[in-house]
Amino acid sequence: YLLQLYQPLNIFGFVYRGIKESLNEMERMFELLSVNREVQDAPAAPALAPRGGEVRFNGVEFAYDPRRPILKGLDFTIQAGHTVAVVGPTGAGKSTLSRLLYRFYDTTAGSIRIDGQDVRDVTQESLRAAIGIVPQDTVLFNDTIRYNIAYGRPGAVQEDLDRVAEAAQILDFIKALPDGWDTMVGERGLKLSGGEKQRVAIARTLLKDPPILILDEATSALDTHTEREIQAALRDAARGRTTLVIAHRLSTVVDADEIIVLEAGRIAERGSHGALLAMGGAYAALWAKQQEAV
Ligand code: ADP
Repeated sequence: YLLQLYQPLNIFGFVYRGIKESLNEMERMFELLSVNREVQDAPAAPALAPRGGEVRFNGVEFAYDPRRPILKGLDFTIQAGHTVAVVGPTGAGKSTLSRLLYRFYDTTAGSIRIDGQDVRDVTQESLRAAIGIVPQDTVLFNDTIRYNIAYGRPGAVQEDLDRVAEAAQILDFIKALPDGWDTMVGERGLKLSGGEKQRVAIARTLLKDPPILILDEATSALDTHTEREIQAALRDAARGRTTLVIAHRLSTVVDADEIIVLEAGRIAERGSHGALLAMGGAYAALWAKQQEAV
């Protein structure tokens, strides 16, 4: 049971040991637990056997509440090692896609397959081992920065930690701290900035080394310099992995192999950045609006 409890918390890099500390976290825990109850492993389910990591959404429909459909029939494939970015207005259902891929919920119709294997047919443990998530907002454990990064792969050695921290561009920062890797972070320790927390999440994910990556882009704006650095780190992390980018802004999507514009749970437009701009539709309008804002 404890393991079951730990699983959903795990996903958000949740402050498991800090649960007692606030009612808010308590509420979140129950929220997550109730989410997880709906999803069970099939009897004698085999482990997912990822090959390249092709992800296929086939006729996917979904509703949190049956009276209010959120996704209304989505078909798209992320080829192994490719990147698909999903953009669109708030509430369109972008983050819901990542929750379905991770199997927080099951689709109401259609299927999601990884290398041909339906996510409902394999163990949740093996599914989640194959998928790394860099969430919008990483919650840190009240523990050392070493623990917070090593958590991506318990048993990792210092050499691995240095390598992923460097790739996530946080190694110099850690080394400059008086207690280095043993610095306490989180609520009761050193408070990290939004950008630093994201780098921790990237380092953790690199250590996990999953074939599939979900990047849920932060909604809160980082300063331009930090944002550029984080994007470079994310681009490196995505290399060679099948990547689903949930883009709340458009900054990370330009290089995606395909961009999907989601509107009210349907695909309104799809194509490369260049093709979508040339089309002069919703994406082009969003892009123009964002350029104005800069
Ligand atoms: P986006 O990421 O595009 O902003 P989401 O996928 O987060 O959109 O949400 C799509 C819709 O689903 C929104 O209308 C949102 O209110 C609703 N929704 C999201 N999460 C839940 C939930 N846990 N229960 C009920 N409705 C939800």
